[in-house]
Amino acid sequence: MTNEIQHFIGLSDLKGLQYECATCNTRINASLADKEKRKHAETLAAKTRCPVCGTQWFQGDSDARVMAIRQFIGYLFELSDHEANFKNTGVGLSITLEIEPPIQ
Ligand SMILES: [Zn+2]
Repeated sequence: MTNEIQHFIGLSDLKGLQYECATCNTRINASLADKEKRKHAETLAAKTRCPVCGTQWFQGDSDARVMAIRQFIGYLFELSDHEANFKNTGVGLSITLEIEPPIQ
């Protein structure tokens, strides 16, 4: 018999979003946990070029990949807000995401 350890995180464990430019290695972080700082994450999700070196990441606002990122962030906020109220609204469920084990 083999044992396999699985690692899960809850939506409330997601604290931030980070973009790292592959050209200049600049990292831009935005909070996902702080509701008042979510606007920064939405702004970051709409970026099509690096604000530091100007490298174009996507062709424009209508690029399907940019739209998918914006939608993902929007759905993440929406689902996190809903899940935070599951107990108050009688929903007997919690949602977790399985992740790769942390590197030791
Ligand atoms: Zn850059």
